[in-house]
Amino acid sequence: MVALGAVIATLLGFALFYGLKGKKKSIDSSMKSSENRICKSDSGKSTDIIIVGAGVAGSALAYTLGKDGRRVHVIERDLRQPDRIVGELLQPGGYLKLVELGLEDCVSDIDAQNVYGYALYKDGKSTKLSYPLGSFNSNVAGRSFHHGRFVQRMREKAASLPNVRMEQGTVTSLLERNGTIKGVEYKTKTGEKHTAYAPLTVVCDGCCSNLRRNLCNPKVEIPSCFVGLALENCIVSFHLQIMGMLFWQNLHLSCFILSVAPRFAVWLIFLAKKYLPFPTVKWLNI
Ligand SMILES: Cc1cc2nc3c(=O)[nH]c(=O)nc-3n(C[C@H](O)[C@H](O)[C@H](O)COP(=O)(O)OP(=O)(O)OC[C@H]3O[C@@H](n4cnc5c(N)ncnc54)[C@H](O)[C@@H]3O)c2cc1C
Repeated sequence: MVALGAVIATLLGFALFYGLKGKKKSIDSSMKSSENRICKSDSGKSTDIIIVGAGVAGSALAYTLGKDGRRVHVIERDLRQPDRIVGELLQPGGYLKLVELGLEDCVSDIDAQNVYGYALYKDGKSTKLSYPLGSFNSNVAGRSFHHGRFVQRMREKAASLPNVRMEQGTVTSLLERNGTIKGVEYKTKTGEKHTAYAPLTVVCDGCCSNLRRNLCNPKVEIPSCFVGLALENCIVSFHLQIMGMLFWQNLHLSCFILSVAPRFAVWLIFLAKKYLPFPTVKWLNI
């Protein structure tokens, strides 16, 4: 994503995402074949790096370190294709980062749409803002897509390397000795407890991380929230491809309409905290 997972979002998602399941089967079967190579050993002897979480950040890191010859053990809570409204827009800089990492094919065959700029609407007027892409190859543009499909492609790509083990499990604690993290304790799908050890553990478990709370006390402020609606059979007819923004300033409300596949769009409505119908903490666990 924008700088591949460096963004910690302060927005919250309310996902009503029922569509886009067409390609799930082939992705799932591909993940299963990579799961065959998963090692469930407790020893961790042959692991250089443990990565907790295979979202955008964990998968990209696993692929990059694996390509570099490191023995990587990724532990991900749920290896099924994620299905939530989050992270649908990759800016052109993010695409260039994918190219740099050799991951650009992860936006192929997932119905990703090229994005060349923004169409802005306010008070009955509209304008278009193009990305300044003049000096780049024609394939360089933003991309919008179903987040889960993209993440699944990244996971597959990482798991395709022989020295990357991708395992489904929930990390329950970091194992610390003399102030140094030595590894993790995790539970498998069937509830078995395992431990894994490595010289380096990288926690990429997302913005609602439980593990981070044990290491530091981040003061996260949640100033706003958004409601996401999935629009099936919807053609977004902006002249520029493809992102629209509308502002209703009086309501302190703005929204995005983003086409994430042919005839499929998401409508994201941002709400300032003072207009939220519930205490924000309730939205965190959706
Ligand atoms: C509503 C919303 C909309 C957004 N829209 C955009 C956008 O359009 N463009 C953009 O660039 N960014 C967007 N972002 C930000 C982007 O989604 C995040 O920056 C990105 O997903 C972070 O990636 P990550 O890999 O760090 O975390 P995540 O994508 O959250 O992945 C974390 C992974 O860790 C796993 N995990 C969690 N706990 C454990 C555990 N204990 N053990 C094992 N595994 C675990 C989870 O299952 C998950 O797969 C948005 C964020 C939100 C909330």
